Amino acid sequence: MSGLEEPLVQEVFASNWIAPLGPQVDAFEQEFCDTVGAAHALALNSGTAALHLALLLLGVEGGDEVLVSDLTFAASVFPVVYLGARPTFVDSERASWNMDPSLLVEDLEERSRKGRLPKAVVLVHLYGQAADIEPILESCQRHGVPLIEDAAEALGATYKGRSPGVFGQTGIFSFNGNKIITTSGGGMLVSEDADFVAHARKLATQARDPAPHYQHSEIGYNYRLSNVLAGIGRGQLQVLAERVTTKRRIFDYYRQALGDLSGIRFMPEAPWGRSTRWLTVITVDPEQFGATREDIRLALETENIESRPVWKPMHLQPVFADCEVIGGAVSEWLFQHGLCLPSGSSLTENDLERIMDVIKACAR
Ligand SMILES: *Cc1c(COP(=O)(O)O)cnc(C)c1O
Repeated sequence: MSGLEEPLVQEVFASNWIAPLGPQVDAFEQEFCDTVGAAHALALNSGTAALHLALLLLGVEGGDEVLVSDLTFAASVFPVVYLGARPTFVDSERASWNMDPSLLVEDLEERSRKGRLPKAVVLVHLYGQAADIEPILESCQRHGVPLIEDAAEALGATYKGRSPGVFGQTGIFSFNGNKIITTSGGGMLVSEDADFVAHARKLATQARDPAPHYQHSEIGYNYRLSNVLAGIGRGQLQVLAERVTTKRRIFDYYRQALGDLSGIRFMPEAPWGRSTRWLTVITVDPEQFGATREDIRLALETENIESRPVWKPMHLQPVFADCEVIGGAVSEWLFQHGLCLPSGSSLTENDLERIMDVIKACAR
């Protein structure tokens, strides 16, 4: 927390607006729109809920197919399965580690010829960096396939000067505890389409029809964000830019200290935008470095320092063993060699020195 949240939460208590909607929620949505350049936003109790509603409102249902980035957190995929649809995974490219546009473009063309286009595409922006949105959006538009952007990890990033999440039919964000800003748990759905967001708002509020009595003509969900948590979110939004600066400083620090070690490479920053460096991620070439990424992870663990392998690709997950994948070699390589280093914005120089000493000691 930054300190700016507490007075806003106190306002909530003073007004006694303790509910899954209220004036802080309205203000949070407006301020979020201003931050990312979206026309309409709906605050929800998780990013997963936002993605569920996005897919539902785009008509995804039982038996449909949805293309999803292969290298991601499983929450990008689970809502596809909630709806009874089948995910198919698309491999990463090396410039940004996000969905490979050439694979997607080629695949949509082939599917179009066969008359079996997917119901939607979920494009993930990983580790604070935007995917190459334009060619993917263009291909989706050409074939009439809606694009959902999962920008849960990329709040504060840019793609050609604009925020990821605002290019597709709809975009989702997350304020879970591990994200660049947090409400402890929460999410946001954005869209240019006012009716789309209004409908999502209705479904998220138990699908109450506009009637004085309780009437429902659709199935609803309890997905709205609490007014208390929206107060936290408003405070957090004010320090987003500062957080990005801190995250990028942590990255620079690592790069200066480790960049010369042979066999260590950093997640590239693609030319189309600015990454937040939400996490500093490296890849380790064991031949050159003299140790594997797992050796480094275990050495850090011995010092009570937590690091994590890069996301395990969705096509390697036991729960998705029956799903198809387009490509898969790049995401597998990244999983095998990639390591997410401690990147919390409260890390001190002392902490960073300790981490880097352990890594250096692993080198040949
Ligand atoms: C965190 C995350 C989500 C889910 O967000 P929650 O708010 O935790 O439900 C979805 N996709 C990606 C890529 C994420 O990192």
